[in-house]
Amino acid sequence: MSASDDCLFCAIAAGQIPSETVYEDETTYAFKDINPKTKVHVLIIPRKHYANVAELAEDDPTQLAHMVAVAQSIADKTFHGEFRLEFNTGRDAGQSVFHVHAHVLTGEVLSE
Ligand code: 5GP
Ligand code: ZN
Repeated sequence: MSASDDCLFCAIAAGQIPSETVYEDETTYAFKDINPKTKVHVLIIPRKHYANVAELAEDDPTQLAHMVAVAQSIADKTFHGEFRLEFNTGRDAGQSVFHVHAHVLTGEVLSE
C-alpha cells in the first residue's frame, strides 16, 4: 500500500470526498479549509502525493512554483494580492495531514 491509498487529500483531489473548489487544473487543486483561520483560508495541493513541502521541492520545484502562483491569483481576486503562505512540516510544527498543502491565509489584515 502506498501513502496515497489512505490519504484524505488524495481523496479530496480525486473528488471522492466533497470539498469547496477554489481553483483546479491538471496538476493542482485548491479548496476552502473546513476550519478557516482567516476570512479567506484556502488549501492548495498537488494532485500527486508528497508527504511535505521539502519532498515536493526536491522532486518537482516547478509544481511548487505553480502553487505559489495559484496562491497569488487567489489573493489577487480576494485581497489586493496580499497573502500569507504556510507549509506546516512535521507533527510538532502543526502538520496534521501528511499530503503537502499550502495554507493561503488572506481576505483580512494579518498583524502577526
Ligand atoms: P495542517 O494542520 O496539516 O497544516 O492542515 C490541515 C488543514 O486541513 C487544517 O487547517 C484543517 O482544517 C483542514 N482539513 C482537515 N480535514 C479537512 C477536510 O476534510 N476538508 C477540508 N476542506 N479541510 C480539512
Ligand atoms: Zn495524498
